[in-house]
Amino acid sequence: MSAARASGDDAPVAILWFRNDLRLDDNPALEAAVEGGYAILPVYIHAPGEGGRWHPGAASDAWRARSLQALARSLQARGAVLRCFKGPSLATLQAIVAARGAHAVFWNRRYEPAIEKRDTGIKQALKRDGLRAESFNGALMAEPWTVETREGGPYRVFTPYWRTAFAQWRRPPTWTAPEALKGTDGGPRGVAVESLGLAPSLDWDAGFWDAWTPGEAGAREALQVFADGALRGYGDGRDRPDQVGTSRLSPHLHFGEIAPWRIVETLETGRTAALGGDIDAYVRELGWREFAHHLLHHFPKSVDEDFSPKFAGFQWADPSSRELDRVRAGRTGVPIVDAGLRELWHTGWMHNRVRMIVGSYLTKHLRWHWRHGAEWFWDTLVDADLANNTLGWQWVAGTGADAAPYFRVFNPVTQAKRFDPDGRYIARWVPELSRLPLPARFAPWEAKGRSGAHAGDYPAQPMVGIAEGRQAALDAYAALKG
Ligand code: FAD
Repeated sequence: MSAARASGDDAPVAILWFRNDLRLDDNPALEAAVEGGYAILPVYIHAPGEGGRWHPGAASDAWRARSLQALARSLQARGAVLRCFKGPSLATLQAIVAARGAHAVFWNRRYEPAIEKRDTGIKQALKRDGLRAESFNGALMAEPWTVETREGGPYRVFTPYWRTAFAQWRRPPTWTAPEALKGTDGGPRGVAVESLGLAPSLDWDAGFWDAWTPGEAGAREALQVFADGALRGYGDGRDRPDQVGTSRLSPHLHFGEIAPWRIVETLETGRTAALGGDIDAYVRELGWREFAHHLLHHFPKSVDEDFSPKFAGFQWADPSSRELDRVRAGRTGVPIVDAGLRELWHTGWMHNRVRMIVGSYLTKHLRWHWRHGAEWFWDTLVDADLANNTLGWQWVAGTGADAAPYFRVFNPVTQAKRFDPDGRYIARWVPELSRLPLPARFAPWEAKGRSGAHAGDYPAQPMVGIAEGRQAALDAYAALKG
């Protein structure tokens, strides 16, 4: 038994069901268990099939494996043991309850449609079993059903949503978990995190861990690095993939390793007149995350279907498996697009500006339905998040609730010149092009003679030309309207 452990032998037992809330501080479910005087039995259940079609991808699993290990260490240091299980969530919880005689099950809510439905059923079943089953908000500043239009419905457009949501925001106080937790013995011990089969058997994720430290401590450190660094100038810097201009907190937020209200509090504590605009810009981005969850909850079909019905007859092009492979390998022949796709493959993350450029090239120049890109991102992003990914892809494809119009086609060459002006981001991720002089690095097919020869085996031509692809997209859109 750990020295930090407080005795919980006589206390009633609460199962603390960890999901996408892999932290101890600012964890409302844990706080309720502590306040209620329960001994805590922390549990993680691996049941990927319950997420439906959008069960976690490979990069998410790789992250989760490490985040769970970090959580297990933090619990251990406080005298509680994380028990991991594989199997159907409800049956597993009921089996633990039966074996240990637990009185309560506490968890923090998730908002993915399949998970919401599952959790509602689980709560009802546990209550029928005579347990105290309670869920909490551990992820959002405002839960989806708390923000309504004047008519009482959900918002579909960000700006009015944000005006209402922000006016209503009540930042919960931050909460520090006790240094000693009342753990409990008895009941099924579960399996080690390592036997859940989350970590990849091949080492394709090796490059991830130079860039990331999953877990609560890693999240706090990332927040501090951001607050001390890129926050200053975030308003403009956030668009520059060649610089560290953003917080890189997205995977930590997705896995619930940090609460959004902790982030806001930390930034607000350092507010000065000079930093005010950057803090406001950052909080607005958190607002997009909130809006994405709002849409996901109110429009659950949008994870698979176009939000806007007007795209029903659109002539999307069906990619061949060769074309899909070319995109996945970052060999489209468009440097900024390939740089983003390779950054994604090597680090599990892609800069937001480049996500938009890649998304536009795929859905407009190549005219692929957004689902193809969304699925690839889902499998490869460490921050893959059903709410944000769906909103991002539907926004960029023009099919979304509050989307960029389809006819606004990003020119990837112009975008690269503007947001990666020295071509450093391209050179980093597409080293074949690093020896090309600047204008050619943005559009190597335009390079004549000697400089073109320096591009190694990089594709000589893009999958579809910039002007040609744009025109084809506009023609398809005009045909739809006609
Ligand atoms: P910062 O600029 O530091 O932003 C702070 C936080 O705000 C982010 O961590 C994120 O939680 C939130 N945020 C920022 N921008 C957005 C946005 N546009 N929409 C919703 N939330 C936002 N984000 C994900 O977390 N998971 C995804 O699966 C995802 N898929 C995307 C797909 C496409 C096609 C596009 C265009 C965007 C997608 N985004 C996704 C949004 C955005 O690209 C990332 O949240 C951002 O790049 C994360 O980096 P950061 O934490 O440094 O962002």
